[in-house]
Amino acid sequence: ASGYSLLRDPHHNKGLAFTEKERDSHYLRGLLPPVVSSQELQEKKVLHGLRQYDVPLHKYESLMELEERNERLFYKILIDNVEELLPIVYTPTVGEACQKYGSLFKRPQGLYISLKEKGKILEVLRNWPERAIQVIVVTDGERILGLGDLGCQGMGIPVGKLALYTALGGVRPSACLPVTIDVGTNNETLLKDEFYIGLRHKRATGEEYYDLLHEFMSAVKQNYGEKVLVQFEDFANHNAFELLARYGTTHLVFNDDIQGTAAVVLSGLVASLKLLGGTLADHTFLFFGAGEAGTGIAELMALEMSKQANASVEETRKKIWLVDSKGLIVKSRLESLQPFKKRWAHEHEPVKNLLDAVKAIKPTALIGTSGVGRTFTKEVVEAMASFNKRPLIMALSNPTTQSECTAEEAYTWSEGRAIFASGSPFDPVKYNGKTLVPGQANNAYIFPGFGFGLVISGAIRVHDDMLLAASEALAGQVTQEHFDKGLIYPPFSSSIRKISAHIAAKVAAKAYDLGLATRLPRPADLVKFAESCMYTPNYRTYR
Ligand code: NAP
Ligand code: MN
Repeated sequence: ASGYSLLRDPHHNKGLAFTEKERDSHYLRGLLPPVVSSQELQEKKVLHGLRQYDVPLHKYESLMELEERNERLFYKILIDNVEELLPIVYTPTVGEACQKYGSLFKRPQGLYISLKEKGKILEVLRNWPERAIQVIVVTDGERILGLGDLGCQGMGIPVGKLALYTALGGVRPSACLPVTIDVGTNNETLLKDEFYIGLRHKRATGEEYYDLLHEFMSAVKQNYGEKVLVQFEDFANHNAFELLARYGTTHLVFNDDIQGTAAVVLSGLVASLKLLGGTLADHTFLFFGAGEAGTGIAELMALEMSKQANASVEETRKKIWLVDSKGLIVKSRLESLQPFKKRWAHEHEPVKNLLDAVKAIKPTALIGTSGVGRTFTKEVVEAMASFNKRPLIMALSNPTTQSECTAEEAYTWSEGRAIFASGSPFDPVKYNGKTLVPGQANNAYIFPGFGFGLVISGAIRVHDDMLLAASEALAGQVTQEHFDKGLIYPPFSSSIRKISAHIAAKVAAKAYDLGLATRLPRPADLVKFAESCMYTPNYRTYR
């Protein structure tokens, strides 16, 4: 191994932090200027550089370049500055990066599996340099955040999610594999874009689509075994539910949009009871948007309520209402509803729009999962505030442009009474001399710890009870100090890795209880065990 290639290997490169000894023993003499710096000083320098950029996308590019140059430094900076950098490597900036991915593209950061690779997927997996993969995040790019079909350019999402698996969850970077499945795109702009990096035709559907996915899922199991986690990300709902149903019983699969979001939002709702009083079943909930996120959350809520109240899920579902693009989901629409909506068709006269639905249902909580921005209008928020002392408003759609309302709007229109959380971050708002701090209801709270819990227990299947356990673990991390500020989530900055360790421990415990864990014997203290397994980005000494 030459010193020259060591400097170009992001997994081992330390740049100016190579010590005198290492420079001697690893043929680095003369390849670096004389100074030897610490990782802390390098961190300071990179942060200083990042803060010079006004444009978030430039920060994103700079961070991605750092990841390709010096992986440990990248993760050190990300972990130490989560609150500041999450909006860059994740929502909202990652959305813009995906939209422009073709023009930004310099080096592949993950594995591309297109229809051209049909019949050869096992070989493709073997082209990836790492063997011991623990977590795969895969997208087909059809519903990237609330931005729609971005085809092959969706790759930014698996890359960003896996960066969080490492930074927030503690999975080793080398054990993470980002995958984009390219079956074409229906995005006309991209099809015409000369810099587009994907297949230049309409999406394959039906058998052709599912055959490719099946080959992928089979190859994954054959190559990495039964304990590799496959996280489905940003698939359109017509495929997302189907894939989860197809592979849920044979593979370790998890759909973050359906299940991860559900656990995060349930956690926020449970925490909000501290401010609202009563139990979940005492309240009524209305969703705007009845897709993966909306029905996924609703289902997990109904399950939790049924466990708490010792009632059937059929019964507890009645406390939850959903609105889709055609209005309130009601019995008379049953025939024409997609399968995942049918169980939410309650007895009620048809209601066309959100405002009327809010007035008719009078929910405690209004949850936006529509992907359509600025739909919680002044009238809607005012209606919520008219029959709730503290209306709970969650605008979950990402990125910021798609948020159903802003934090400022929710607070202003509710005279400062709203409890507000959103998918993408908003700054604190000054209202009547008071500073109101919005929470971020984002699945980044759960999936890194959730996946890590599966990994460290060697789980072979995901079970709904694990989602409930993760949700409970997160809600347990909200302190009185947070509640006093109106927060229903702990801030990311307050040691998200500690939160992840607790979530991982609860998930692992469930895996053991359910007989789904293969890592034996069961560690006595799972929180300690989780913490001890976490990847740390500090430099290693080379001898
Ligand atoms: P999805 O499966 O496509 O569902 C979108 C739903 O919104 C559908 O039911 C759709 O109605 C409805 N809708 C669309 N336009 C509407 C309109 N004008 N009026 C009323 N309803 C409308 O998408 P998803 O996976 O649930 O994601 C939705 C959004 O949630 C995205 O922006 C995503 O970024 C966000 N999200 C956030 C988080 C988080 O952690 N905060 C997690 C996951 C997702 P039809 O069914 O009638 O078409
Ligand atoms: Mn997603």
